[in-house]
Amino acid sequence: METLSIVVPCYNEEAMIAKLVMHLDGLISNLIAEGLVGDESHIVLVDDGSTDQTWPLICSCRNNYTRVNGVKLSGNVGHQNALMAGLTVAKETSDIIVSIDADLQDDTSVVADMIRLSRQGNDVVYGVRKDRSTDSMAKRLTAQMFYKMMKMMGVRTVYNHADYRLMTKKAVEYLCEFNERNLYLRGLVPLLGCQSAIVEYKREERLEGKSKYSLHKMLNLAMNGVTSFSDVPVHVVLWLGVAFLIVAFVIFVYVMVSYFKHSVVPGWSSLMLSLWFCSGCVLTSLGVIGEYIGKIYVEVKGRPRYRIEKKNGDKVGD
Ligand code: UDP
Ligand code: MG
Repeated sequence: METLSIVVPCYNEEAMIAKLVMHLDGLISNLIAEGLVGDESHIVLVDDGSTDQTWPLICSCRNNYTRVNGVKLSGNVGHQNALMAGLTVAKETSDIIVSIDADLQDDTSVVADMIRLSRQGNDVVYGVRKDRSTDSMAKRLTAQMFYKMMKMMGVRTVYNHADYRLMTKKAVEYLCEFNERNLYLRGLVPLLGCQSAIVEYKREERLEGKSKYSLHKMLNLAMNGVTSFSDVPVHVVLWLGVAFLIVAFVIFVYVMVSYFKHSVVPGWSSLMLSLWFCSGCVLTSLGVIGEYIGKIYVEVKGRPRYRIEKKNGDKVGD
């Protein structure tokens, strides 16, 4: 029977730990009873450098719940890095890994469906929110705008999916081949090329405490999402430069006609021409430099070029 790990990044979640552990322990017991996962299944709580009682509480939970494993990071590295740390640890001891937030906003009753879908050959099962009714108007609007912008920029993400997902050990191993530091897992996981499925669920309000995603952290994540997956902004600069140069040419013709008609103020022609021409040159040069930096960025990230899914020809009948 497959071993399940539930990975939870926790940052200053002292108000949640007891409820969280009780809930997830109950969930695992039910899954074992249903014959969906093995007895070794466990919870991995990653303390992302909390400054409150999160870590002592995780340690004390181990007295009552044998299924709890704690991992303490030396400082606050952010949700995405903390989650990656948890996935990397969990893949050593389990076959399927579910990542979930500590605030129990995500409906855990769909974990059983996720496991069933993984048994049907899906290495990734995304938890997708049915609606955003529990979000504030501002969060809903910004989230929708962000998804639309990402789509326009050619980034493949799953709409309304945060980091509530199941991954098999194989999928996490592929993910570990991506060495980049600026993590945006929602963009990376679809790049793995694994067979995937989705389960829908209703997202509730946070049970205890406040959101740990400050505006700054949220903007950083959004920025990472764009800059790690899209080179559209660099192309825009280049094409803007080219557009400026075209306008400069049109203005050149206009200025010449005006000049020879003697209908211009002295200095206007040279000023207009140099303004458009120089701006065009500066933008085009920036765009060209950007194209090279974009290439260097891709090289530095060192993402795998491809992944062979199957081979046929080694043995007859493969
Ligand atoms: N989190 C983390 N490190 C951080 C910020 C958040 O590990 O620097 C964790 C947090 O404890 C929670 C998850 O990331 O388990 C999502 O955070 P939260 O629920 O506060 O975000 P929201 O749902 O408000 O977007
Ligand atoms: Mg939350």
